[in-house]
Amino acid sequence: MTATSAEFIAAILNDFPTLQIETGHDTTWHAATGRSPKVTAVIRVHNEADIALAMSAARKHGFQLHPYSSGRNWGYGAAAGQQPRVMLDLGCMQKILEFDDTCGLITVEAGVSQGQLAEFLRSNGDRWIVSVTGSSPRCSVVSNALERGFGAAPYIDHFSAVRGLKAILPDGTCYRGTAAEVGAWQSEKAYRWGVGPYLYGLFSQSHFGIVSSLTIALCRRQTPLLMAFQFETSALAGAINTVQELRHAYGEQLTNIKFISVEYAAAIRGDTHNNKRWTGLISLHAPSNLHGPLRRAISRELKRSGFQSTSFTTRSLRALQKIASMIPKRWGDALASSLESVETLLRFISGNTSNDGLALAYAGQLPAHNADPAQDNRGILWYSPTLRFDGSSAAELGDACALVFRKHGFPAAINFTAIDSHALCGVMAILFDPECEQDRAERCYMELLETGLAHGCLPYRIPAFCPSLPGASGDRNALAALLRKAIDPAGIIAPHRFETTTAGQS
Ligand SMILES: Cc1cc2nc3c(=O)[nH]c(=O)nc-3n(C[C@H](O)[C@H](O)[C@H](O)COP(=O)(O)OP(=O)(O)OC[C@H]3O[C@@H](n4cnc5c(N)ncnc54)[C@H](O)[C@@H]3O)c2cc1C
Repeated sequence: MTATSAEFIAAILNDFPTLQIETGHDTTWHAATGRSPKVTAVIRVHNEADIALAMSAARKHGFQLHPYSSGRNWGYGAAAGQQPRVMLDLGCMQKILEFDDTCGLITVEAGVSQGQLAEFLRSNGDRWIVSVTGSSPRCSVVSNALERGFGAAPYIDHFSAVRGLKAILPDGTCYRGTAAEVGAWQSEKAYRWGVGPYLYGLFSQSHFGIVSSLTIALCRRQTPLLMAFQFETSALAGAINTVQELRHAYGEQLTNIKFISVEYAAAIRGDTHNNKRWTGLISLHAPSNLHGPLRRAISRELKRSGFQSTSFTTRSLRALQKIASMIPKRWGDALASSLESVETLLRFISGNTSNDGLALAYAGQLPAHNADPAQDNRGILWYSPTLRFDGSSAAELGDACALVFRKHGFPAAINFTAIDSHALCGVMAILFDPECEQDRAERCYMELLETGLAHGCLPYRIPAFCPSLPGASGDRNALAALLRKAIDPAGIIAPHRFETTTAGQS
């Protein structure tokens, strides 16, 4: 502990003796992006009163507070700006406050992890699932929703599941929405928009307040069915257009739609597989009695467009795994590895968490225990442009981004994921060695950002290191800047993290 940090902590404890405050020197803060913020101390909170107290301490001692719910924002980073700050750890707030088993609504505190929630739902009737991400089971549900992350089951876009929230504002007061204020308990949990101005969105990617709990809508458990097809790079636009039509026809029954490049698949498996084709994935989220007709209709449409699909259920997977174990190793191993990927995907679309998706950050060599790319010094930067759900737009963006990846010497680990029937998100990973490739990786990110903007595409999240959005100077979002000034005039809650998206270069 440095003398300054010790003195700083002592001074805070002198005024706020009940705060749990430590140096935080033993924590990896760069979140696998290779860049760490300057952290003076960490305050651990257990309830809303602790959060309000931490806010009072920040006001009195003039420091910045950076909240985190699980601190695993791998590939996007923890905090921006050069100023030293105090991290506010909400990870101990792990209560599941309410579960409405009839309507599929659940209220969780900030530190509840996706693994904890999946397990809670499994052991409480197993009728509902939560859409989980491909990241660790230990990631918080609340922080991912606030970051507008996405997963594999309805509600794919996690903030779209939010029905209500409670947030502690920089002045220490609590915001909980009009319905809660007037005691409209049914509306408060079930109806997304409330009445009057819609303000919940203000707390997403903003740091306008510290969210203590969130109510989210769940989706009904269904037997998973996965459809997969492969195609040449030249057929990407056609594949996307065909699936877009299907998604409009069948709506949310088609979830987890992904188009995965050869290099993305190879990065997850850590191989240079002979397979040189893209993979298209569609999962069905529908009652089992609809699987047959839906599967037939979808495979017919895919076939009409020239794509031969295969479908998998948990049962058919078991049968195939048995066959793979009986055939000669030479062919059996390749089949077993493909079936392992199918198993991971089936688990993922069923709302079950695992570390398997983290294999991407480990070139396929996932550690047997405690995978944590930040601690293991793996480098990853996500470039995640949003775009229209349109084949030629995606193919043009994909080609342009692949050129940038190759120019900087990185594999073009690209996939396109459907957010809904209208929007795609490019999921592009710059995988690098922080010891010697940091600058190159960041230059690659900035050029991808420029390339995307030239195609009319903005990422849905921006990594903490990113200094500014290319383009014209001036405020990007003057209203957001105005609100920030009004809500947090002293700049207590991590004022720089989302500055890239609001203020322009001066
Ligand atoms: C291989 C791999 C796969 C991944 N797959 C996915 C995926 O499928 N989908 C996806 O979305 N992401 C994915 N990620 C990215 C990331 O790991 C997740 O998004 C993760 O959920 C975010 O980390 P966290 O929850 O620990 O965030 P935290 O670090 O806790 O927080 C993230 C941000 O939210 C703010 N915040 C957190 N809690 C609060 C609060 N209570 N109040 C106010 N602000 C708060 C923080 O200040 C910070 O800016 C992946 C990463 C890797 C490496």
